[in-house]
Amino acid sequence: MKSILRVFSYLKQYPFHAFAQLGCAIGMTLATFVFPNATRHVIDNIIPHPQRHTEFGYWIALAFVGFLLKDGLNSLRIMVNNTFEQKVIFDIRSDLYEKIQHLPLQWFDTRRTGDVMTRVVEDVTNMERVLIDGIEQGLVALLQVLGVGVFLFILNPTVALWATLPVPLLAVGAWFYSTKGRDRYKNQREASSDLNALLHDNISGIRQIKAYAAEREELARFNRFSDILRRANLRMMKWWALYSPGMSLLRMTGYVLVLAFGGRAVMEGTLSLGSFTGFLLFLSLFYEPIDRLNSLNQMILSGRAAADRVFEIMDTDDEVNANSGAELPANLRGHVRFENVSFSYQNQPTLENITLEAKPGQTVALVGPTGAGKTTILSLLARFYETTSGRITMDDIELSSLSKASLRDRMGYVTQEAFLFNGTVRENLQLAKRDASDEEMWNALEAAHASPFVKELPQRLDTNVGERGVKLSGGEKQRLSIARSLLKNAPILLLDEATASVDSETERLIQSALDHLMKNRTSFVIAHRLSTIQNADVIFVLDAGKVIEQGTHNELLAQNGKYAELCKKSFLPEKE
Ligand code: ADP
Repeated sequence: MKSILRVFSYLKQYPFHAFAQLGCAIGMTLATFVFPNATRHVIDNIIPHPQRHTEFGYWIALAFVGFLLKDGLNSLRIMVNNTFEQKVIFDIRSDLYEKIQHLPLQWFDTRRTGDVMTRVVEDVTNMERVLIDGIEQGLVALLQVLGVGVFLFILNPTVALWATLPVPLLAVGAWFYSTKGRDRYKNQREASSDLNALLHDNISGIRQIKAYAAEREELARFNRFSDILRRANLRMMKWWALYSPGMSLLRMTGYVLVLAFGGRAVMEGTLSLGSFTGFLLFLSLFYEPIDRLNSLNQMILSGRAAADRVFEIMDTDDEVNANSGAELPANLRGHVRFENVSFSYQNQPTLENITLEAKPGQTVALVGPTGAGKTTILSLLARFYETTSGRITMDDIELSSLSKASLRDRMGYVTQEAFLFNGTVRENLQLAKRDASDEEMWNALEAAHASPFVKELPQRLDTNVGERGVKLSGGEKQRLSIARSLLKNAPILLLDEATASVDSETERLIQSALDHLMKNRTSFVIAHRLSTIQNADVIFVLDAGKVIEQGTHNELLAQNGKYAELCKKSFLPEKE
């Protein structure tokens, strides 16, 4: 119920649409009263009196106008409803996406992309439909039931009593269905989400599936998930198949009771034939909204399950200082210090008491075996995660007190696997600088040795690079991502050197691009190339989350410790 109430805050923003829609719905309900009343009047007061037959045509026309009004208003209501609905869906989706962007990376580590997508795309639509349709139709249906109910009692209280006898039973049935049905709808939403998550994963990994000829196994896995969804859907539908006709039978019992007791009242002369006919027609107006309330019940269950999933995201805590916090000074020197920093991913200790320093403009190389914690150090510096203990400072300002936007604005991050978005070269570059001119872009591409291949692309800067940049080679993607960092021109650089082997010419180009990039900046490099390491001002050797050695290349070789051993074991390819 709480979830449902929360969506009201979204509806509140469009009072005009809400009232217009409600107004149309109430008008429609009133218009439905015209036909049964006209029928009753024609049968009782016009047909038996030949002198009034001249009025007959007016009453028929009035009956038609009633329907004309009803359907005209309905058309208007649907139009207002559509606009209202789409506006609210847009708002909820926008808030949800904004929220998702502010969630800490830790949250994404434990989520499946497909599940998040299902919530943003499907659940938002489902929850909203309930609210607008549910509230409007529910309210109108309730008004109609009450209005017609009172009218029935005015026409003939005894017959009305028989007519409404099944109502308490209908209420019990609806209550039973909605309280017992919640889990079925929740399961259905979850099964749908699981299937989407699997589909997303498999489509992203289609190359691997094909390369390992795993199509058959993956189909079996897909079918397993699809079957769970099928069964969840069927479970939901099975109950509906019992509930819906069950409720209909109860309603129809009301008609039979009216035929029996109303017919008897006509035979006994206590009810006129016209009133009896009117009564039967009104009865359909009485039970039709009850039928609608039943369908709504189903819609509300499904919407509530969806709303719970959407609000679960909305209620997650944002990244600390996502929007607030101190700003870095305009002329940042780029003096970075880690003081006794420890960090755990989901209670799994990863870094222990890391102390390191990069003086302004220095290049710091991080080396060590895979899993030693090198990437984690860069992630902490970019504040993708918060330290568990210890502190990191930049120009003596504690990182955790800074606004994330201000921090990341001053940071270029070149990841090992260059990630490009499905868009043009230009759009990918603009991620670093929205208002970059063509000239600036070409300069950055030139410095990153990317301009020769971009010039060869069919539409140059406006060529689409495909999803994750599939239309470019590994080396090209890397150079584009270096160009992107050059364009950003941030004083701090985080660089995860690629290990993927490229031909020696590309390697040389990339190296030269990187040299360009590191110039005059404080750089943290996860180094795999000997040349980078030799050029570094200081090297930190990491093992199992600890700094075990530090110094320059020559100093470390002289120590003849882990670093010397790493060099020998050619963890670091001896390329120069
Ligand atoms: P390196 O860059 O030195 O190869 P990482 O910093 O990537 O090492 O990883 C250090 C340790 O942290 C590894 O044991 C890895 O399994 C773990 N780890 C890395 N990222 C995550 C994550 N997002 N969630 C949980 N554990 C992680």
